[in-house]
Amino acid sequence: MSFNNIQGNINKITLNTIGTIKDNQGRLLAGINDIVLSHVFENRYTLHPRKLKNIADEELENLIAFLSKQEEDIPSELGKARAISGIKDNSLLDIFEYLYNFLIDNTEDSSVKTVLNLFYRYEKIYIINYNYAEEKKLLSDQEQLRQALSSAFNRQKQELLVKNHAIETSLNGILIADLDWNIRYTNPALLKMLGENGTLITKSTFISIVGEQAIRNLRIQLKETGAWQEEINYRQNTKSVDLFLSASLIRDNDSRPIGIMVSFVDITSSKKLEAQFRQSQKMEALGKLAGGIAHDFNNILAAISGYAELQLLDFPEESQQYRDMLQIKQAAERGKGLTNQLLFFTRRASKERKPLNVNKIVKETIQLLKRTFPPEIKIRTVLDKGLRLINGNQSQINQVLMNLCVNARDAMIDRDDNRSAILALEISTYNSSIDKVTAAQYVNASAGEYVCLKVSDTGRGMPPEIVEHLFEPFFTTKAAGKGTGLGLSVVYGIIRGHNGFIDVNSRPNEGTTFSLYLPALQPGTSAELNDKNEDTLVTGKGTILIVEDEPQVRYMEARTLEKCGYSVLIVKNGREAIEFYSNKQEEIDLVILDMVMPEMGGRECFYRLKKINRDIKIILITGYTTDPSLTMEIKEKAAGSIEKPFRLHEFTRIVHEALISPVL
Ligand code: ADP
Ligand code: MG
Repeated sequence: MSFNNIQGNINKITLNTIGTIKDNQGRLLAGINDIVLSHVFENRYTLHPRKLKNIADEELENLIAFLSKQEEDIPSELGKARAISGIKDNSLLDIFEYLYNFLIDNTEDSSVKTVLNLFYRYEKIYIINYNYAEEKKLLSDQEQLRQALSSAFNRQKQELLVKNHAIETSLNGILIADLDWNIRYTNPALLKMLGENGTLITKSTFISIVGEQAIRNLRIQLKETGAWQEEINYRQNTKSVDLFLSASLIRDNDSRPIGIMVSFVDITSSKKLEAQFRQSQKMEALGKLAGGIAHDFNNILAAISGYAELQLLDFPEESQQYRDMLQIKQAAERGKGLTNQLLFFTRRASKERKPLNVNKIVKETIQLLKRTFPPEIKIRTVLDKGLRLINGNQSQINQVLMNLCVNARDAMIDRDDNRSAILALEISTYNSSIDKVTAAQYVNASAGEYVCLKVSDTGRGMPPEIVEHLFEPFFTTKAAGKGTGLGLSVVYGIIRGHNGFIDVNSRPNEGTTFSLYLPALQPGTSAELNDKNEDTLVTGKGTILIVEDEPQVRYMEARTLEKCGYSVLIVKNGREAIEFYSNKQEEIDLVILDMVMPEMGGRECFYRLKKINRDIKIILITGYTTDPSLTMEIKEKAAGSIEKPFRLHEFTRIVHEALISPVL
């Protein structure tokens, strides 16, 4: 048989087969449809139901086209299309089996081999291409998935980096540990806070810092509430920091605890400020109380010493009465000294101020101290030659320095280990600019130029519990009879009265440093001091009206002035004064007016008198409880003023000066 004959034979066979297929088209379409429908479940995600209906048509069409043309492109394109549309391969294999059985059943025995051969080729190309396309699709899906995963991963990595950076640069300390307190991470701020720069914080250092009891509480609380907070104080070498700790559990995705995070906030400076603030409020209240008592007490003492002084003038010096009176006067003076100490503390003690050189006061004080200090204590001074002046009260600053030095001496003599320690007192002075940030660390400080007076000792030092009460009046750790507990309260009152502030640094066995900051005067103010001290009463002539509610003070003033040659008139209060003065103003040369009186106060009385006669001469008697701002305002318009309690010679000098001064 020639090739052409063979080909012709095949053509005849395929034509027959195509005919058979076409004859049975309805049956075949239904059969294939049944198969497609039986697989609908597994194909439901990828094929649209409408497309499913076309499958049978397409299968028959393509098979017929292949049988007639025998082009390999036909099954190959169809296979690819089927893969792309997403039909599962077992639906196709079922269709093939169905068609194969149909062809066997409906082809003559002589042609069956040829037909099946052709069908086998068709099916092979179809399925190879289907697989090929399917594999390509899978690869591209995989690539897409890989890309999606990697971009998600990158995003997460970026997020982690940001979080990591935030933790690393946080100002608060952060520690991460596992549930057994094995430390897994500590950020740089924590290392800095705990002063262990560079070294790792281990489980045991952490537990010793927080305290075993606190760690036990932490466990219980974390279990119960999931959070824990506590304030601790951490000390190392010279450092003492107050820390606010909070801890929380770290959980995994299934919210099982896997670790603990502890954050540390440094609250040292805010705690210090809070303590200072509490302290200053307490001092304020105590000051008011002490001031009130001292005021009344001072009036009594002024009367006692005033009358004693008058009696001293009457008795001959060699008499027993004179000596007794002198004792009374001296006792009253000592009493005044004591109330003065209390009043220093109340800030109201506004004695005269002058430009002062603190260095000079230090030198004078040292001279005095040397005599009372035991020889084993070395005294050293470091005085700034260019020290600025302050506006201050010399005897008050003197007293401040004395009180501090005496305390320092006691603390050094009292050292438990005084044999081995070097005992040294160092007093230094220097100019100091306080900026806003530093000023904010002290309750009563404002920014500005200060003169700093620093007193350091190598004495026994103090724990914080003592420092806390240091400035309270009557606070002492010394044996009864040895300490009064007034020394530092006086220091406090005086420094506050000078608008200054105090910094204390002390640690047990390591000595104490007091730094006193006093506002510096503008450069160019000169320091001149002239203290005249006369003991004789100054005499004169004229009529004086005394306005004073306190009978004892009233009569004491009257007797003194009469002794000095004046005529004296007395009224008991402001109302009487106005009445009296409006009737007798021609007779009166001078009015002595107490600023603190019930009913009509000194201020109102002052202005009413001025209204009657604007040239009237008035001397103001001020007390500790007189509001300083109020006094300032009137003082300028008065002929003079004197502060209670006063020495009689001072009183008569001021009266004399007022009387001889010309009317303004
Ligand atoms: P007093 O000296 O009468 O006890 P202070 O007010 O002067 O009263 O001092 C109060 C307390 O402060 C003292 O009892 C002492 O405990 C403590 N103190 C003061 N200065 C020092 C110092 N330099 N070193 C150690 N402790 C001091
Ligand atoms: Mg003292």
